[in-house]
Amino acid sequence: MSARKKLVAGNWKMNGTLAANAELLHGIKQGALATACDLVVCAPFPYLAQTSAELLGSPVTWGAQDCSAHAQGAYTGEVSAAMLTDFGCRWVIVGHSERRQYHAESSALVAAKTMQVLRAGLTPIVCVGETFEERDAGQTLAVIESQLRAVTSALAQAGESQWVNRVVVAYEPVWAIGTGRTASSTQAQEVHAFIRAQWRTAFGTSADALRILYGGSVKPGNAAELFDQPDVDGGLIGGASLKADDFLGIAASA
Ligand code: PGA
Repeated sequence: MSARKKLVAGNWKMNGTLAANAELLHGIKQGALATACDLVVCAPFPYLAQTSAELLGSPVTWGAQDCSAHAQGAYTGEVSAAMLTDFGCRWVIVGHSERRQYHAESSALVAAKTMQVLRAGLTPIVCVGETFEERDAGQTLAVIESQLRAVTSALAQAGESQWVNRVVVAYEPVWAIGTGRTASSTQAQEVHAFIRAQWRTAFGTSADALRILYGGSVKPGNAAELFDQPDVDGGLIGGASLKADDFLGIAASA
């Protein structure tokens, strides 16, 4: 058993209504009392006030799915990390593959967002992952290395050693997201161990405390085997985070 506390985070993506969220949050809150891991809900921006009101006083914490790479100012449509703190957020997902893919987010931009999140006192959940073509071409570790290096370099440059300990990394193979195809526990462990080794090269023993989540078609039925791997410290859950029973079932495996 590692000393790292397991973390299960729900990524609602662009789903929800006030009515549906109220029911979902209520269910999660009820079940959370029986959960041993850290439970997190990442809701769409307009529902953060509702999420905060529903979850306040529960063991569940919450966050956003993205934020601006800028601190404030003339950036129409953007939401700053500092604004998220006004809604009690503790977490921000950055660099999700859907943002890299559909919004052309580069690793440099993801690193800049990560720094904004840290500067605001929040915890970034930094997503990395290869496409099917990249895995097929044997490039998985090279892709992960380059995506991660953007963040480790920015962290090293910032020189704020306590920030290093706050970061969470999520390994999400693009081919496994929303496809029903999960990475095998062996595939996940290989990449997670590689991420930890990269972190160790950059930051030494703080790699022992780095929480590395797996994401991509995690369900109650496959969570236990994934979470049993020595370097898998929990999950980032998309589809299955939209039903309280599924989400709590996954959390029960952590
Ligand atoms: P999924 O999504 O669980 O629906 O595959 C995971 C994610 O994109 O974070």
